[in-house]
Amino acid sequence: MPQRGAAFDVIIVGGGVAGASTAMQLALRGSRVLVLERQMLGAGSTGRAAGLLGQLRSTKAAVTLLRDGLGIVRDIERRTGTEIFVQTGSMRIAATPDRVREIEEHVRLAHEVDLPIEELDRAEVARCLPYMKTDDLLAACYCPTDGHLQPAELLAGYVRVARDHGATFQTQTPVERAIVTGGRVQGVVAGGVEYHAPVVVNCTGPWSYLVAEKAETRLATAAIGHYYLTTTPSPEVPVDRHSPAVRDRANRIYTRPEAGGLLVGMYEAEPVEYDMERLPPDFDMSQMRARRDELNVAILIDAASRRFPFINERTAMSITTGIMTFTPDGQPCCGPSSEIEGLFHCAGFCGHGIVQSPAIGLVMSQLILDGRSTYDVQALAAGRFDDLIDLADRPAIKAASYRTYSNYYGKVATTDAAKT
Ligand SMILES: Cc1cc2nc3c(=O)[nH]c(=O)nc-3n(C[C@H](O)[C@H](O)[C@H](O)COP(=O)(O)OP(=O)(O)OC[C@H]3O[C@@H](n4cnc5c(N)ncnc54)[C@H](O)[C@@H]3O)c2cc1C
Repeated sequence: MPQRGAAFDVIIVGGGVAGASTAMQLALRGSRVLVLERQMLGAGSTGRAAGLLGQLRSTKAAVTLLRDGLGIVRDIERRTGTEIFVQTGSMRIAATPDRVREIEEHVRLAHEVDLPIEELDRAEVARCLPYMKTDDLLAACYCPTDGHLQPAELLAGYVRVARDHGATFQTQTPVERAIVTGGRVQGVVAGGVEYHAPVVVNCTGPWSYLVAEKAETRLATAAIGHYYLTTTPSPEVPVDRHSPAVRDRANRIYTRPEAGGLLVGMYEAEPVEYDMERLPPDFDMSQMRARRDELNVAILIDAASRRFPFINERTAMSITTGIMTFTPDGQPCCGPSSEIEGLFHCAGFCGHGIVQSPAIGLVMSQLILDGRSTYDVQALAAGRFDDLIDLADRPAIKAASYRTYSNYYGKVATTDAAKT
């Protein structure tokens, strides 16, 4: 028989950026919040992320969320007296007519939502990034307010502000099941203890479909591997701390400066799939190691070398790998479960959970406390896949999510899909 723990207004399952940001916003509004984390805070995708914060997306609603999210990061910096965000600006570059049109569309959208944006000519790009190949470029745009951060520092900021406002974070506490009676969630059981609250939020990243199953419901998320490299600083190729990030969609890569070296990540066409249920219960993403002879690592180095000729298989570098959470349409699932009252999902950020987390925490607090958000979050509805026959089982969800990852940078963007 489980023991009874204290009662809360909201229980959040998962201590990554999604759970901590939601906890912070709820605590700021006076809710009694408990966050239960199976391991350490940030032990999931959050601890592996590259930390790019790019605001340009393909829809007005998505850009607005990200633009306002940056204001929340600035607010956390003020509250904690810690500098988190490194404003480097970021570039998108195009070497084919299709990609030029993509950039033109992004520039038009940025103007519509008052996001500062400039078009750059090839000479200006080359001046900013002397170590990048530029002779094939046809167009580039620059967003001066973009940048990056260390995800651990953002997470620490959320946790500190949330704790200052009464939130409780409990680590080493895997949630075993949800308590559901009469179609309504009443709390969760973790470590043989019952924790009670009328609202439970599933913020468990790649584990989110398993946690949904613990509440006898479904969530259309899938776990997919991702890699980035970080070159060791070299006096021959100095990378300034404030060099702009770059997104080169044709080569499927993104970059940013990191400690004097260059970080380059890739959305490859054939990523590695994971089944989280097959990983050990004490699986720790920070222990994941990539081998230099893995195929996906070779593909990453090759793609990086096409845009940054100083990079090759002999370059001194470290490789980071981790697991992302994808959905069939490239958008996260954020909001109430359509099946169980009081249960909310907040997962499936498709490689952009760090940048989305500031505003998403606010959105979740509004949905939980007010029943609606001041943002247009229709595209993120958690139950949008529930009635789709094509996505009725795990293999179909996995296949669709895998396709979304493969096409993330590969396919030329259209206005209806969110892309980095
Ligand atoms: C290599 C890599 C690079 C990335 N780069 C970027 C980037 O540049 N910019 C960007 O915006 N995003 C990036 N991302 C994506 C980003 O890391 C994720 O979108 C984000 O961290 C998701 O946060 P989360 O809180 O939803 O999930 P997570 O950080 O995975 O947190 C989920 C937490 O739930 C816990 N949990 C699971 N099951 C249970 C349970 N039963 N009980 C209790 N707790 C449980 C886990 O231990 C984990 O701590 C990257 C991801 C990877 C892997």
